Amino acid sequence: MHNHERKGIEVLVETFIRKQLGLKAHTVTKVEETEEFMIIHIDRLGDRLLRCGLCRQRCRKVHSVRKEREWRDLSMRKLPLKLRYRPRRVECPRCGLRVEDVPWAEAWARVTAALSNAVARLARELSWQGTARQYGLNWKSVATIVKRAVQYGLKNRARPAVHMIGIDEVSRRKGQVYLTVVYDLERRVLLWVGEDRTEEAVKKFFTEEMGRRRCHTLQVVCMDMWAAYANLVRQHAPNAQILFDRFHIVKHLNEAVDEVRRAEMQRLTKKEKVLFKRSRWLLLKNPWNLNGDQKERLSTLVRWNTPIVRAYYLKEAFQLFWEYRQPARAEALLQKWMSSAMQSRLEPFKKFVRMLRSHLDGILPWTKLRLSNGLSNGAVEGMNNKIKSISHRSFGFRSAKNFIAAIYHCCARLPLPVER
Ligand SMILES: [Zn+2]
Repeated sequence: MHNHERKGIEVLVETFIRKQLGLKAHTVTKVEETEEFMIIHIDRLGDRLLRCGLCRQRCRKVHSVRKEREWRDLSMRKLPLKLRYRPRRVECPRCGLRVEDVPWAEAWARVTAALSNAVARLARELSWQGTARQYGLNWKSVATIVKRAVQYGLKNRARPAVHMIGIDEVSRRKGQVYLTVVYDLERRVLLWVGEDRTEEAVKKFFTEEMGRRRCHTLQVVCMDMWAAYANLVRQHAPNAQILFDRFHIVKHLNEAVDEVRRAEMQRLTKKEKVLFKRSRWLLLKNPWNLNGDQKERLSTLVRWNTPIVRAYYLKEAFQLFWEYRQPARAEALLQKWMSSAMQSRLEPFKKFVRMLRSHLDGILPWTKLRLSNGLSNGAVEGMNNKIKSISHRSFGFRSAKNFIAAIYHCCARLPLPVER
């Protein structure tokens, strides 16, 4: 290749990169290729005005030239790009002596805005370790990028009026540390994460995140019966109806079934255990869908009339409650169910009924609210599962701060910084 041809190609590459980076007061002077990197050398373009790094106003006077800095950028084909430039210090009429604003990166950043946004987007799908590997960065850089993105997103997110929220707790490190999460159930988006599950910690959601004015639009607050949040709702959102939601009630019901099953398994003989394990799914089927052999096995099981069979039937009967359209009928069913559960001689079910009875004013509104507010039973559960998967794929975050950042990043639909 002749020398002037090579020169021509280089000019093309430099122009291309200059346009890609959107440089106006800067230019690409050289593109250098090493084994590991493509290095883009940048310099100031003539005496075009530079901007203040703080307020971004154009400044007439350049004070001095600082030492060379490097920024990682997205890869060009296989080679990662690095930008090299000696930032100027400018005299801003408003802010005084400041380092100039560079259009390819935020003032604090060691990577370009394009790369940090790409990293942030991938970190919504992969673990931080996996994201770091993809971009040849270390875990800490990814953590910094995500935390900055979350900080930006929380400051710049849309905050429409909120009508229905779900408050729940999530655990980190196998139940040793608890966080409180609050979802907007209409938009199916995470609103807030609190560092504990105490009343004191959750108070901040109402006082700091929502504020008095926004609290007034709250109509429904879904939560668990055990939760310590009911007082807070009465105090800060007096217009809101507390609802102990389906997801949590079913969870307690399943725990009662489990407790009965565990006790039962200790009592059964080995042969009975095998028969039971092979047949218990029959209890959950509609009898008219079973064939002859299955019916036979089911009736054996029912004839046992063991605690576990009674527990399964009680559980199934309870599910009808969710389907009613008329509040009076739903309540009648629930009352009937509670008295038969009290007579079941199953201690875990009696405990469950006692819990229901003391929370009825937050359970019965379900029938009306699910129709009038389009309340979906899957909303809380879906968000919950998403958070669990974030926790799992990252082998449990070692610090609560990082876990909280990851939850916001994946569930709050935050906007990413705008690339210039
Ligand atoms: Zn300034």
